[in-house]
Amino acid sequence: MSEGRTIFDVAVQQYRQAAAYLDLDPGIEELLATCSRETTVRFPVRMDDGSTRVFEGYRVQHSSALGPTKGGLRFHQDVSLAEVKALAMWMTWKTSVAGLPYGGAKGGVICDPKTLSKGELERVSRRFGRAIAPVIGPWVDVPAPDVNTNPQTMAWILSAYESVSATHSPAVITGKPIELGGSEGRAEATGRGVMFCTVEACRARQIPIEGARLVVQGYGNAGSVSAYLLQERGAKLVAASDTRGAVYNPDGIDARELLAHKCATGSVVGYPGTRQIDESELLHLPCEILIPAALEGVLTADTAAGVQARVVVEAANGPTAPEADTILEEKGVLVIPDILANSGGVIVSYFEWVQNLQGEMWTEAEVNRRLESQITTAFQDVLRISTERKVSTRVAAYIKAISRVARAVAMRGTEG
Ligand code: NAD
Repeated sequence: MSEGRTIFDVAVQQYRQAAAYLDLDPGIEELLATCSRETTVRFPVRMDDGSTRVFEGYRVQHSSALGPTKGGLRFHQDVSLAEVKALAMWMTWKTSVAGLPYGGAKGGVICDPKTLSKGELERVSRRFGRAIAPVIGPWVDVPAPDVNTNPQTMAWILSAYESVSATHSPAVITGKPIELGGSEGRAEATGRGVMFCTVEACRARQIPIEGARLVVQGYGNAGSVSAYLLQERGAKLVAASDTRGAVYNPDGIDARELLAHKCATGSVVGYPGTRQIDESELLHLPCEILIPAALEGVLTADTAAGVQARVVVEAANGPTAPEADTILEEKGVLVIPDILANSGGVIVSYFEWVQNLQGEMWTEAEVNRRLESQITTAFQDVLRISTERKVSTRVAAYIKAISRVARAVAMRGTEG
């Protein structure tokens, strides 16, 4: 980030670029460039050594025009208000492009969970849950897990919220343990959504999925699930990486066995029958499908030129820099943008919320069937807009997302 420019400034810039394609009312354009509510909380936590430490956290709601706001909670030492605001805005676009009745929000606590004991983590989560209780609720704002938070964290926050409100309110948070109203299929949802998008992208480019060569950068939750589900559809995983290195076998790697190897050893490196390669080589391998599934900024002006894949499906948030987007477009690579490609997680979160509100429990098969229908519809909408308006799939996704929110804002009007 250049000096003085925050990640929220970048999010606003992306929004303005896409908004330029829409004939938005200037007041509505201005409104959506800001977050509607930014809450900062500070709360005391008793540490194991008996001392008291004050933590700072945030919950930011960008827009609730389409419905209750939705978005994860992040526990990380680098959490900042600017980052949470940017992530909240991106959630508005992600839920909108997926066709969900939600706005966007995000939250976080400045802390390094690796330095906290389990008891301290529980007390931080509960105190944070109490602190944000006045601004969340099943019909207000519904948090979920994000970086360094998980179903257990959600259970603690739910419990804190329910003790403040003296109710059972499972729909106030998603990504919960199944025992507390979590949904079947949630753990694999993001990777499954990536798989459905990849299948559709290959269909659009007339690439047979059977035998299509697949490269996954970042073999974590999203990356590994995408890989083994695509393998079930006939694709051939040829390379994968994590923070310790990358492995390659042009004859194919069994995606589930590779995951078992990573779970056992901590890395994909050393998987039998593979050759270790470096990261830049991985991005430039001959293949049909490339899935960046690690962090942001992987495809840059430098790395994009050598990409040989015909479709790039962004499981990660923000893996492609704007200059790389132009290069990939010129090369004729079909890029499925993050706000569409990785929306499977929030789609199944929505299913969890619906089940909680109705007191229902759906089977995994039911969840997966609905996910396929929801994300495939969103994909086809984006592809159609891209063709009709002769814009990239990223701009098309933003056009769909922003115009849906802007219409809702206009219909609500400005009075009381
Ligand atoms: P994860 O921690 O399970 O996996 C990330 C993987 O990337 C790890 O294997 C890590 O070793 C690897 N990695 C990190 N830096 C790397 C590097 N420089 N080179 C190669 N590998 C590297 O995380 P995740 O939940 O799978 O999330 C991955 C991405 O997907 C993130 O951008 C996240 O925001 C996005 N995402 C995840 C979900 C979800 O439900 N899991 C939903 C939406 C978006």
